[in-house]
Amino acid sequence: MPYQSILEKIHAEIVPTLPQGRVADYIPQLAHVDPHKFGMAVCDTSGGIACVGDAAERFSIQSISKVFTLTLAMQLEGERLWQRVGREPSGTSFNSLVQLEYEQGIPRNPFINAGALVITDMVLSHLGEAKLALRELARKLSGGVDVCYNPAVAASEAGRGYRNAALANFLKSFDNLRNEPADVLDAYFHHCALSMSCTELARAFLYLASHGQHAGTALITPSQAKYINSLMLTCGTYDAVGDFAYRVGLPGKSGVGGGIVAVMPGLFSVCVWAPGLNASGNSLAGTRALERFSELTGQSIF
Ligand code: GLN
Repeated sequence: MPYQSILEKIHAEIVPTLPQGRVADYIPQLAHVDPHKFGMAVCDTSGGIACVGDAAERFSIQSISKVFTLTLAMQLEGERLWQRVGREPSGTSFNSLVQLEYEQGIPRNPFINAGALVITDMVLSHLGEAKLALRELARKLSGGVDVCYNPAVAASEAGRGYRNAALANFLKSFDNLRNEPADVLDAYFHHCALSMSCTELARAFLYLASHGQHAGTALITPSQAKYINSLMLTCGTYDAVGDFAYRVGLPGKSGVGGGIVAVMPGLFSVCVWAPGLNASGNSLAGTRALERFSELTGQSIF
């Protein structure tokens, strides 16, 4: 498949639309990101990579990190993790509080903030050093030996993290956090503040296109890779997940830094970065770029 020429065509089409999105500004550090950035990278299961635009520039991966945290929690807890978090789409925004009260402190899924806080709590209970563990996983999977947290982004979010603090305290009140909310939040904000590029993320997500295999060894089981892909398809882009599935036809996970990673099991993983967001907090141009990618390649899971 001529991925390189397809990416170049998408790049040319998408660039004029970049100003239409709105960069996230509730995390002050993200408000400074240039809305004209655009990068895209595709990695096939044999390791070949094609990329375009700003694909080598690192950005804040934000909620894309929730896939790595869930991967660690699956390794550590297996199926027990479903006692503390659901696996249904939420139909609400990623940082909504209201559903958590109705549903007695059990978040709908691991990809909304409340769910990711519970998952982070599990990793913290097992490993103590949740920040180190996640950074090491991101380095190993991406091959980026110097992948690291951006401390200014983590501090910026912590300084304004009232909503996530409310969610963490709420979860604690329902006995669904084992650690102190402040410790869980600190790990969570750091996870969101990992800086990675499109090429690094496309490489890092290859295990989900390869039935859980990374570099010839099983990172997770084939069933667990299926579970994570299914969750990305049904919950990975929040209350826009139906629209994303309709248009792109691939499991995907977005972050408010403007990145989206999508996976075609057996074939490739693809990452796009365009910082301007739509109303649901997903990259506006990034969603469009992935839609064009599935149209031009004729590839989707359907
Ligand atoms: N760190 C962000 C938050 O907790 C992540 C949200 C996102 O990327 N959707 O609000």
